[in-house]
Formats: sequence, structure tokens, C-alpha cells
Amino acid sequence: MPVVEDLQVGVMFWAGPDPHQTLRDQKALGVRAGQLGIEGDYPLDGAAEKWKRAVADEQFTVVTVFAAYTGESYADMPTVQRTVGFIPPATRQERERRTYEISDFARGIGVGSIALHVGFVPHDPKNDDYIAVRNLVRRIADHAAENGQTFALETGQEPADVLDKFIRDVDRPNLKINFDPANMIMYGTGDPIQALDVLSRNIVSVHCKDGEWPDKSVPNALGVEKPLGQGAVGMDKFIAKLKQFGYKGILGIEREILDKEQKKRDMKMAVELLERLRKQ
Ligand code: MG
Repeated sequence: MPVVEDLQVGVMFWAGPDPHQTLRDQKALGVRAGQLGIEGDYPLDGAAEKWKRAVADEQFTVVTVFAAYTGESYADMPTVQRTVGFIPPATRQERERRTYEISDFARGIGVGSIALHVGFVPHDPKNDDYIAVRNLVRRIADHAAENGQTFALETGQEPADVLDKFIRDVDRPNLKINFDPANMIMYGTGDPIQALDVLSRNIVSVHCKDGEWPDKSVPNALGVEKPLGQGAVGMDKFIAKLKQFGYKGILGIEREILDKEQKKRDMKMAVELLERLRKQ
């Protein structure tokens, strides 16, 4: 895969049934690199071969394979708590197995990083779920290391210091962070620009996403996602801070709305915005 430039603008995108078409759709937005998301029910049998051929034919660079799991929902805080990542005990084992498959799939297409939402990490290190998830994250990090990969946790569902302590506690050199500034705002877990100071040494990739703080008058509500540059993140400050600490990965635009045409328009606008900011 072609080598990416420092702060190359890219996208977070999801695998469709036809890898070539999925990559052409991303290139139509004006990018040639990205993070490939794999839904929980995406068939992985023979998938690495097809994706390997597609990235070569399309001259596209996949920097991360992102795992999602069947049964996850981001509707509101309690639903996220109940359904996302490794926190729900009932699905922990099957999701662990699936993550090994994702890591092997990523190796098959030559991708050196996997990432996922671990879910709401409990704040108390003596909590049973905390211990179980910490041990599971160690096993996945070790599996990823055997595949020559970093393993990145996405930010947002806990404050920066809780995530930082968790990562220290897991204590694996390839355990890293995929930093999403909008999540920190939408989950109300802290100012993302300040969080960068706490987490910067472990950040291997970022999502460029924007959003509003939660509406405090609605219990358990999440903040609303916004087109890039129209939320509370402050993209200029975010990019300036990334440059300041020497971040060199891609700027992966993420837009999570269902309206496909609107999404395309918003992402094209985001590409233009980031192309301008990265050169400043
Ligand atoms: Mg994200």
C-alpha cells in the first residue's frame, strides 16, 4: 500500500460487499487513505484476499482495521453501557474471538493496527468487570503484537485520566489510542484539547469528527454529532495541537449519519476544511 504523508486527510469507512466499490466510493470524496470498519456480521471467510487485491488495484492505504460487534447500539448512555464493546459480560467471549479474527484479517491485508470501542471502562480497578476487561485487553494486545500490530482503544466513553490509568494498568507496549475529539464532547467526558495533553504519547490515529455537548435537561442523552467545523471541538485548535505534539498519522474524517447524500456532502466539505488546516 502507498505510504501516507504526515497528516494526510483520510476517512473512517465501513466495508461493503464489494471491496473495490467501497474503495472507489472513498476516493470519490477526494481521499486515498482511511480506516476500514468491519461490522460484527461482516463475513471474514476469504475477505482478506479480496481486500488485499482491492487496496492494491485502487492504490488505497488502509491504516487501521476497526472492529464493531453485533448487538451494539449508541442510542443513549445506558444503551451504550449495556451493549458496547467488552463491558457486557454475555457477549464478551464471542467478541474476544471475533477480535482475534479481525486482527488476523488485518494482517492478511497488511494493516499494522486494529482499533475498537472497549465500552464504558468502570472507574474502580477492583470492580470484577474492570478486571475481566483488563485481562481480555491484554490477551488481544498480545495477539495483535504477534501479528505485528498496535491495538488502539477509541476515546470518549471515559475521561482522559481514566483511560490513561487503564492503559497503564493493562501495561502492553502496543496498546494505543484512537483519539476521537467529538466523542469526548458528546459523552460529556471532558475537553478534548486538554485531553490531548494527557493522552498524546499513546495516540496512533485520530477521528476528525465534531459534535455538541449533551443537553443537560434530557437525562442520559448523548450530544448530537455535527458536520466537521460546526460543533464544539474547534477543528483549528485540534489540528494545531496534533501538530504541536508531532502527530504524523492520517486525519480520519468520521461522519455517522444515515442520510447517504448528506453524509457525502458533509465529508467532501470536511476534506476541504482539513486540507486547509493541515497546511496552516
Ligand atoms: Mg470515532
